[in-house]
Amino acid sequence: MTPRLAELLPAIKAFIVEELYPLEQQALSTGFYELQPVLDEKRAKVKALGWWLPQVPQKWGGMGLSLLEFGILSEYLAKTLYGHYIFNCQAPDAGNMEILMEHASEDQQERFLKPLLNGDIRSCFAMTEPEFAGSNPIQMGARGTLSDGSYRVTGHKWYTTGADGASFAVVMCLTDPDHTNPYQRASQIIVPTDTPGFQLLRNIPVMGERGEGWLSHGEVMFDCVVPQDHLLGEAGSGFAMAQERLGPGRIHHCMRWIGISERALELLCHRAATRSLGQGKLLAHKQSVQNWIAESRAEIDAARLMVLNTARRIDAEGAYAARIDVSVIKFFVANVLQQVLDRAIQAHGGLGMCDDLPLAFWFRHERAARIYDGADEVHKERVAKYILKDYLPDTKNSHG
Ligand SMILES: Cc1cc2nc3c(=O)[nH]c(=O)nc-3n(C[C@H](O)[C@H](O)[C@H](O)COP(=O)(O)OP(=O)(O)OC[C@H]3O[C@@H](n4cnc5c(N)ncnc54)[C@H](O)[C@@H]3O)c2cc1C
Repeated sequence: MTPRLAELLPAIKAFIVEELYPLEQQALSTGFYELQPVLDEKRAKVKALGWWLPQVPQKWGGMGLSLLEFGILSEYLAKTLYGHYIFNCQAPDAGNMEILMEHASEDQQERFLKPLLNGDIRSCFAMTEPEFAGSNPIQMGARGTLSDGSYRVTGHKWYTTGADGASFAVVMCLTDPDHTNPYQRASQIIVPTDTPGFQLLRNIPVMGERGEGWLSHGEVMFDCVVPQDHLLGEAGSGFAMAQERLGPGRIHHCMRWIGISERALELLCHRAATRSLGQGKLLAHKQSVQNWIAESRAEIDAARLMVLNTARRIDAEGAYAARIDVSVIKFFVANVLQQVLDRAIQAHGGLGMCDDLPLAFWFRHERAARIYDGADEVHKERVAKYILKDYLPDTKNSHG
C-alpha cells in the first residue's frame, strides 16, 4: 500500500458500497443498454471525483497509478458488477488503450484513443477464431492484404468481447502469411465498426446469457477495406503487441477475481451467520461451512500476495522478467475464484442459484477465467517447462 492510495481508498470504498452496491439488483435484472444512463451518471461522478482511468498515466488524463496500486484498487472495483466499467478501466478497452498509447500514430490517437479515454466510445479486440485453436494463436484465417494504400481485412472472429456497440475493433490478422518467422506474420489493424463489410453476426449465448453492449461476446465477420494508416505499430508486430497487452492484462483480471472472491466470502459469512437451521443452530455452526470459510480465507490471501508480488515485479523489472509469475497467478487465481464462488453458492442453497444475488452471475461469467488469456493447461505447461529446465538433461548435449 502506498501513501497516496492509502489516502484515496477509504473514499473509493465508501463510494462503491454506497453508490454502486445499490445498483446491483437493477443490473442483475436489466440489460446493459437499459442500465447505461445510470452507469453514465456514475461515470460522471467518478470523473468529477478525480478517480477516472486509474490505470492510465496522468498525461493522458488518468490517475497514473502503478500496476501494484491499480491491482489493489482493482480488487475493490471488482466487488460489484460494473465497478471497472464505471471507472473506465474495463477489459477489453483498458488493453486497447494501452496499445494505442504505446503504438498508435498521432492521428490514430486523436481519432480512436482520445474518445476511448474520455468514455465517449467503446472498443473491442478481435483475435480468436472459431476455426482455429486460440491456444496456438499463430494459426489464423484472418488476412490483411495491402494494395493501393489500403488494407483489405477479411476474417471470421468470435468471442470478440463488447463488439456489440463498439466503435472500432482492433483486428489481429496475417499481413505476411509466408514470413519465415511465424511470430512476425500478423499485424493489428484498426477497423471502425461502421466500415462496410463489418458484420456482427450475433452475440454468442454464454452459459444461457446472450448479453448486450459491453457485456456481450460477439461473433463477427470482416470483409473491410481501411486506409493503410489504420495499421497499428509496425507491420508484423501483431504478436509482440498482443504479448505486451497480456502481461498487465492478466494482473488486471487476477485482481478482479480476488475482489469477486472477497465479496463472495463476505456474502457466504453473512449467510452462515444469519441462516437458522432450527433448534438454535445456524449454518455458521456447521463444520463443513466453517471449513469453506477458513479455506477460502487462506486461498484468497495467498492469491492476493502472489498477484501483488507479480505486479511489483512487473513495475520493477518489466513484463518479460515476470512472465512465469504471471502464468502461475493466471491459473491459480482463476481456480481460487471458481472454488470460492462455488462454496458461496452452496452455502446459499436456492438463493445462491438465482439472480437475487450476484453469485450466480459471477459463476456464469467468470467460468471463462480458466479459458481466456491462456487456458489453465497452457500456463501450467509453461511453468512446468520453465522449472524442469534445471532438471532435464540438456537435449542438445545428450544427442551428442
Ligand atoms: C468469455 C470469453 C471472452 C473472450 N474474449 C475475447 C476477446 O475479447 N477477444 C478475443 O480475441 N478472444 C476472446 N476470447 C477467446 C479466448 O481468448 C479463447 O477462448 C482462448 O484463447 C482459448 O482458445 P479456444 O477457445 O480456441 O480453445 P482451444 O485453443 O481450442 O483450447 C481448448 C482447450 O484445450 C486445452 N488445451 C489447449 N492447449 C493446450 C495445451 N498446450 N496443453 C494442454 N491442454 C491444452 C485447454 O483445456 C483449452 O481450454 C474470449 C473467450 C471467452 C470464453
